[in-house]
Amino acid sequence: MPNLLWLQGGACSGNTMSFLNAEEPSACDLVTDFGINILWHPSLGMELGDNLKRLLQSCVSGETPLDIFVFEGSVVNAPNGTGEWNRFAGHPMKDWVAALSKVATFVVALGDCATWGGIPATAPNPTDSQGLQFLKRAHGGFLGADFKAKSGLPVINIPGCPCHPDWVTQILVGVATGNAGAITLDEFQRPSTFFTSFTQTGCTRNMHFAYKVSATEFGQRKGCLFYDLGCRGPMTHSPCNRILWNRQSSKTRAGMPCLGCTEPEFPFFELEPGTVFKTQTVMGVPKDLPAGVNQAGYIKLTGAAKAAAPQWAEEDIFVP
Ligand code: SF4
Repeated sequence: MPNLLWLQGGACSGNTMSFLNAEEPSACDLVTDFGINILWHPSLGMELGDNLKRLLQSCVSGETPLDIFVFEGSVVNAPNGTGEWNRFAGHPMKDWVAALSKVATFVVALGDCATWGGIPATAPNPTDSQGLQFLKRAHGGFLGADFKAKSGLPVINIPGCPCHPDWVTQILVGVATGNAGAITLDEFQRPSTFFTSFTQTGCTRNMHFAYKVSATEFGQRKGCLFYDLGCRGPMTHSPCNRILWNRQSSKTRAGMPCLGCTEPEFPFFELEPGTVFKTQTVMGVPKDLPAGVNQAGYIKLTGAAKAAAPQWAEEDIFVP
């Protein structure tokens, strides 16, 4: 029965909330159907005070084998590298993270804060936060670029703000059932099965993207959100339109631009109103183009597409 320990650093609990909404399998199924023994979790763990400290110490000493160490939230180093601003069970959290990562068979970082530093690490980064093995796009982070867990894998990064519950549960099941060998990671240590395609893959607005028909307001049921509202779907790696949220929808399906939250640079434009939901352009051409598209190609393609746009592309296609 694999032991799983889940701790939280500089975070809002968003990934925990997302995880607790998992359906197939649910958090409960991980225990009953897949035999994962949750040693402790911030919302589910029963131990407190000295009992919790003893549990963590027993993992560090090896008395309790630690198969999967899950970390949510940034590693807080402030003030002055001591980590005292984020104490937990009698010690700076960062000291627990260092000690537990050394003995864990697998280390899994959940959400942007644990993977890249996320919002806490955004300039001026007052908490001196880092991700477990990255700081934004720079490899290294708190554990260092050479870190490998006992399994030989580096930190498995599952980004998102928050990450989708299925991305978490499917990786945990893979690891817990001895199928970790099937998990391939991309250059940012994200599972390739989820993070090779783009948010745009499966978006219901792809026809509008192709004809350069733009949505100009949130929630509009026609038009693509790229041309005016700053959608980052064409350059963000995520399966948000393949593995739907609540089995129902996604941001772009609901008329809300993708914010690029699975990429190391998130939050783009520091989420400044008036900037983040507005396509940044130079001479009418977006500064950030779809992945792999150059400026000359974009100008040719969109010029022809706009001229060819059919009337139906300007209408609400979901009205019966
Ligand atoms: S740019 Fe955004 S809204 Fe438009 S098709 Fe791509 S993902 Fe959908």
